[in-house]
Amino acid sequence: MPLDEYRRKRDFSTSPEPEGDEPSRRGHESPAPFFCVQKHLASHLHYDLRLEHDGVLLSWAVPKGPSIDSRDKRLAMQTEDHPMAYGTFEGVIPEGYGAGIVMLWDMGTWKPLVDDVETALKKGDLKFELDGFKLKGSWVLVRTRGYGGDRAEGRSWLLIKHRDDWAGDVDITTFAPLSVKSKQDFHEILAEDDPSVWTTNRPVAGGATGAMLREIIEKAAALKAERGGDRPRPKTSGRQPPGARAKAALPRSRTPARGRSAVRRKQR
Ligand code: MN
Repeated sequence: MPLDEYRRKRDFSTSPEPEGDEPSRRGHESPAPFFCVQKHLASHLHYDLRLEHDGVLLSWAVPKGPSIDSRDKRLAMQTEDHPMAYGTFEGVIPEGYGAGIVMLWDMGTWKPLVDDVETALKKGDLKFELDGFKLKGSWVLVRTRGYGGDRAEGRSWLLIKHRDDWAGDVDITTFAPLSVKSKQDFHEILAEDDPSVWTTNRPVAGGATGAMLREIIEKAAALKAERGGDRPRPKTSGRQPPGARAKAALPRSRTPARGRSAVRRKQR
């Protein structure tokens, strides 16, 4: 899908989202293409997997988020390509398409495990490797018969982790819920966002977008309360060492030492 479609769905005069006409953020040719997963609290919480290819970010919306358990098949709806500059975006989309809060949940590089990405996409079977903070190792995206009728035809894929050293039964989305960019949760990103940007882009009160944003702000507040300690945190596993959660959620380095990763310890 071309960037035209991306632009058509957004009004760039009011959105802090990057326009996609900036030069590549890299000053030189990188050996491996970029990937990211953006956790997106919009009308529904989902995770956007984006893989750099041919100067754009191929994109899939994964409602449940990626799973590192190779027994899981996660629905991934292909969405329009996004501009490279969007890949490191984290913040608030005040209105319009995708209105909500975006968290840079994971990022790194990816490597196709196929001869030709275009062919693999057409075939509906893209094998690849990820080297991010949270997601690593070998994965596959397989096109499937659409959920949701004809509209979903051709857009419906499954994201599956291959069994390797980076697979395990950790629920990675609850184990490592925070941003790799700011180490923050949604409500903090919301609070941190430049108030001038937020204020000038505030939608008209009473409008449909305004209602949705209020709902999102409420969701962010609810998440905050949930994580505040009033309620028990979701149990991930009793076997991880103390501090593993914080360590996984707050990576310090783009290249954490392999073998010392808490996730790797969970391998089966
Ligand atoms: Mn999204």
